[in-house]
Amino acid sequence: MPGFDPYEVLGVSRNATAEEIKKAYRRLARKYHPDHNPNDSTAEEKFKEVKKAYDILSDPGKRQQYDNYGFTGDEQPGAGGFGGFGGFGFNFEDIFESMFGEGFGARTSSRPRAQKGADAGVEITLSFEEAAFGAEKEISARVLQVCQECEGTGAKRGTGRRECSHCRGTGEIRVVQTTLLGRMVQVRTCPQCNGVGTVITQPCPNCRGQGRVEGIVRKKVNIPAGVDTGTRLRIAGAGHAGVYGGPPGDLYVTVNVRKHQFFERKGQDIHLTVPIGLAQAALGVELEVPTLYGSERLIIPAGTKSGTAFRLAGKGVPRIHRGGRGDQIVTVEIDVPRNLTPQQRDALKQYAELSNETVENIDDGLVSRLKRVFGRR
Ligand SMILES: [Zn+2]
Ligand SMILES: [Zn+2]
Repeated sequence: MPGFDPYEVLGVSRNATAEEIKKAYRRLARKYHPDHNPNDSTAEEKFKEVKKAYDILSDPGKRQQYDNYGFTGDEQPGAGGFGGFGGFGFNFEDIFESMFGEGFGARTSSRPRAQKGADAGVEITLSFEEAAFGAEKEISARVLQVCQECEGTGAKRGTGRRECSHCRGTGEIRVVQTTLLGRMVQVRTCPQCNGVGTVITQPCPNCRGQGRVEGIVRKKVNIPAGVDTGTRLRIAGAGHAGVYGGPPGDLYVTVNVRKHQFFERKGQDIHLTVPIGLAQAALGVELEVPTLYGSERLIIPAGTKSGTAFRLAGKGVPRIHRGGRGDQIVTVEIDVPRNLTPQQRDALKQYAELSNETVENIDDGLVSRLKRVFGRR
């Protein structure tokens, strides 16, 4: 019964309203109901057809689908001999094939489809200065390259391809699944030939039929000034070779920057900690401070506290995209003297005396001094 027409079954027009459909269904359902027609198999079949037709036309979605495609794609499980659409001698694949031509979804070409190669990655370790100033580096990465023996076809020299027996050349296989909605035919790519429809007859011995072999790619890379640990640089086309003539992927170089003996990198700023003496902090001093760009004069004013930071503008690392540079941050740390000579000790004692600092007995003035500092009485 191909061409099951629910409108015809219910005897309504294509423009019938929901109310008209319901009415027709009630009338026919009563007419063919098994209770009213005992032992009448024709009436029973009719009753099932009517139910089926109503099931389609009472559901706006299914009705729309039927109007558009002439089927709804579902079946009534337990509809007995009726068997849904499958029982009418057609199913999804028939419909799709008649709609879209023979072998819907199958590749018309028996040649494998070209595919872009995957991206590859490699790490590079740079010195602090190389990362800051940029460098030309040679990198090597292990990637898949086109097999020279078979020029990427995967087939042994002088041999070709034959039709895939698993899918009989269509490139796809049909899987029938039973779901809640009924039997569904799913079309899947043939795993044997990956949807190509043909397979190689004899694999190339060099690449074992893969068309690609592992090799080392070597490239000179211009590392721009300002890269940091974690920066990724892309080398277009240096990744894995494509499949069957497809373009290669890209190679990503991930930068790793070695630590510096004195400088510490934080983004584009460079941090440097400089020790100064007790007297230098108290009296002030002018220092020569190393930077990436040579030494710089830095004035430490009298009375500088330990931990005070000074900014040398523009003495940091170049910004890759925005231009300009970060700063260098110089933090001074007061070096409290240890292992004093007798003269140094005397000088400090004298200083302590002059500034009323108790250095040899318990300083019972501490609490009152702290109270003064923190503003308490
Ligand atoms: Zn090969
Ligand atoms: Zn196949």
